[in-house]
Amino acid sequence: MQNDSQFARHSWYICGVIDDADPVAGASSATSPSPEYQRIVEENRRFGAVFDRSALTAAPVRGLAVLTCMDARILVEDALGLRVGDAHIIRNAGGLATGDAIRSLVVSQQLLGTQEILVIGHTGCGLHEVDEAGLRLRLAEATGHETSLSFGAFADLDAMVAEQVRKIRAHPAILDVPVHGLVYEVETGHLRELA
Ligand SMILES: [Zn+2]
Repeated sequence: MQNDSQFARHSWYICGVIDDADPVAGASSATSPSPEYQRIVEENRRFGAVFDRSALTAAPVRGLAVLTCMDARILVEDALGLRVGDAHIIRNAGGLATGDAIRSLVVSQQLLGTQEILVIGHTGCGLHEVDEAGLRLRLAEATGHETSLSFGAFADLDAMVAEQVRKIRAHPAILDVPVHGLVYEVETGHLRELA
């Protein structure tokens, strides 16, 4: 927990620096908005102008919760044939069943009624065969703060996904529902079911 605190303090420190530049207007005014940020704001204006999904309920229509990696190549909705409102999609680096992913799954089940879980790893994951110690060293050099934060690097993709499935099934706060392990191939777009 101490390490989490160190990391949190560092995050706070970054925010503090930004906020100090303009404590009234907050982080976004510390530097002029990037072209990408400006594009996003403009896109959202267009999105809001034609928005027609206000009747959706918070409970996912298909009763599904998906845990997967944050990798930008995985468009979960397209890959699984889902539409907005269909499923909870919980993402983090690696698609790991971390404490916070479990928390989200519990909320998904207890408050919003989902009854099936997919855990999806993928080929070409940034955490595959990453050197944890090297990454910690790089982080320390970049930030000036030592950390023993665990990043969840793994050597065997299928084994990693199977382990997340096992963790979810075994967690006492998770309901006894189907939990499927799958691998998404970023090269082909295909999902492979784990045995
Ligand atoms: Zn990944």
